[in-house]
Amino acid sequence: LDDHDGKIWLDGQLVDWREAKVHVLTHTLHYGCGVFEGVRAYETASGTAIFRLPEHTRRLFNSAKVLRIQMPFTEEQVNEAQKQVIRANGLKSGYIRPLVWLGSEKLGVSPRGNKVHVMVAAWPWGAYLGADGLARGIRVKTSSYARHHVNITMTQAKAVSNYTNSILANMEATDDGYDEALLLDTAGFVSEGSGENVFIVKDGVIYTPDLSAGALNGITRNTVFHIAKDLGLEVVQKRITRDEVYIADEAFFTGTAAEVTPIRELDRVTLGAGQRGPVTEKIQSAFFDIVGGKNARYAHWLSAV
Ligand code: PMP
Repeated sequence: LDDHDGKIWLDGQLVDWREAKVHVLTHTLHYGCGVFEGVRAYETASGTAIFRLPEHTRRLFNSAKVLRIQMPFTEEQVNEAQKQVIRANGLKSGYIRPLVWLGSEKLGVSPRGNKVHVMVAAWPWGAYLGADGLARGIRVKTSSYARHHVNITMTQAKAVSNYTNSILANMEATDDGYDEALLLDTAGFVSEGSGENVFIVKDGVIYTPDLSAGALNGITRNTVFHIAKDLGLEVVQKRITRDEVYIADEAFFTGTAAEVTPIRELDRVTLGAGQRGPVTEKIQSAFFDIVGGKNARYAHWLSAV
């Protein structure tokens, strides 16, 4: 990924992709205090547009606030930076990664005295859990790792260090031949995937864990709330047990990278008919219409680049 033509926005300027580097004594590299976002740009009939850009940037700033990081740019500047990298790299669609980290002025746990850096990169990225996964559903394993407790590293911040937990869970599941992990909270209730929120469908009602289970407040999760309402479907946020997933009619993951990915199996238990369910299909199709600019009602969620 580093040996690439193109431009990266670094601390206010577009620099050559290969020159966008940090020093080995970078504080965040040692202690993990940093925040990031994952954003997608889609091709629409009226050109390339970034999906829910201000909401992603707001979450980035909120993540920084939670970690007591003083942002050196405004939200407007970071919004503009994301549009700039899409244009500068000639992307029609792609994944955008804004990252905020602390510099290499000093080490020691206290980050005070380190410069705050911001970068935005973008590159093409297809279906995160595979095109086949989007169509047929994926196989998931309940993780032996618990999701962060709400009072450990702060689960509403999309913090760099939170992803050690995600990485461990994802590696465990994929090493065992599954596509993704499902993490439970420390009390044993369903929380989320390693990089996705989770939903189940039972008797026509949609359920998702409430945020006290330690899940990130996903922007795709929120998008699904709107889609469900439009489809006349009720969404209930509540505590969900692992066996409620086993006996659900359908289940799916949501995320900027994962989009809306059906889950066809958990722990070798077939969910529903073992394929993308009808409610999931409707939600997925409405989601792709919205991000593709085919639903005028949500045109305000697309920022032209
Ligand atoms: N949970 C975690 C742990 C994630 O990393 C992500 C991806 N950002 C999500 C949920 C989904 O959030 P969003 O829909 O905003 O991408």
